[in-house]
Amino acid sequence: MAHGIAVLVEHLEGQVTDVTYELLGLARRIADTDGAEVVACLLGHGVRHVAERLPADRVVLVEDHALHYLAPEATARTFAALLRGERPWLALVPNTAIGMDVAAWVAAALDWSLVAYCQAFDRRDGRWVATAQLFGGKVLADVPLGSDPVVVSALAGAFAADAVEPGPPGTIETQEPPAELATLRTCSVRLERPEVADIDITRAEKIVAVGRGIESKDNLELAEQLAEALGAVLAASRPLVDAGWLPRSRQVGKSGLKVKPKLYLALGISGAPEHLEGMKDAELIVAVNKDPKAPIFTVADYGVVADLFDVAEALLERLEG
Ligand SMILES: Cc1cc2nc3c(=O)[nH]c(=O)nc-3n(C[C@H](O)[C@H](O)[C@H](O)COP(=O)(O)OP(=O)(O)OC[C@H]3O[C@@H](n4cnc5c(N)ncnc54)[C@H](O)[C@@H]3O)c2cc1C
Repeated sequence: MAHGIAVLVEHLEGQVTDVTYELLGLARRIADTDGAEVVACLLGHGVRHVAERLPADRVVLVEDHALHYLAPEATARTFAALLRGERPWLALVPNTAIGMDVAAWVAAALDWSLVAYCQAFDRRDGRWVATAQLFGGKVLADVPLGSDPVVVSALAGAFAADAVEPGPPGTIETQEPPAELATLRTCSVRLERPEVADIDITRAEKIVAVGRGIESKDNLELAEQLAEALGAVLAASRPLVDAGWLPRSRQVGKSGLKVKPKLYLALGISGAPEHLEGMKDAELIVAVNKDPKAPIFTVADYGVVADLFDVAEALLERLEG
């Protein structure tokens, strides 16, 4: 597969993740320009039926009990063995909790370059350029790619989801798992699902988000009242969730949820890169912070330098009065 493009298929309990289709679409776009072959690499256990939904030129299927739930060590070793045989020019991996582990391990094992946190992939002056986020998105790095093989882990949501439709591949090929799967040091024991969310904040049209500026758990009541009056849901920065004031399902950010509401009202949130990562794509951001230098103002459409309690109470009075 000279100059081929390999895509690691991410799936859970028989469902292919959206980011996989985004990467298959990106691979198709590159392949159409370069005349390359798109190979979907499907690793797992009992996943043959998943291959039928992968729009690639070829699916390479490797099944083994150790690959259940795409356990990182087994997945990385199998993917590396597969790439060694296929020798593609580019390996695309979702930059997700699973993919981040796999991409770094595979790049190191094969001695290939790694571009992580990729958010754009364009052709410039006859070369492909991968744009990667550094420092949580504060800095963008353009990485021109040469002819040496490279692993690119791409951010979920960065590439068009509808560039390809789920559908059958050209061919499906089965490969034996590498022998080393019999001697792994780690394995997945079971799948533990997070607590059932009371509210899905990723679908909310309006969010009132509170940060450490709210000071105490008791003060959440005021934010809750404001959220209710606005027809919004209440979310929070990580410290409030870590303190147990709100459930994990309400956390916005890098290690929480990514949200894209029509309105994001941030009260007493400083705007650390890890928080911005989860909300900077909201349609309208209104930030209230008493520190005029708070980084949240760099992404806000409207910024209010004030005490959040004064603003929340005044807003409530207006909305309820
Ligand atoms: C690997 C990693 C992952 C992380 N993931 C996340 C994540 O998913 N989500 C997340 O949020 N964080 C995450 N963090 C933590 C992040 O770095 C910040 O520590 C956190 O976002 C800060 O929360 P905050 O803005 O509420 O608190 P602070 O940074 O303490 O900010 C509080 C703000 O409130 C303002 N303020 C105080 N009192 C008032 C008042 N009365 N009126 C108005 N403003 C007031 C202050 O000026 C300040 O700007 C992560 C960190 C790491 C290392």
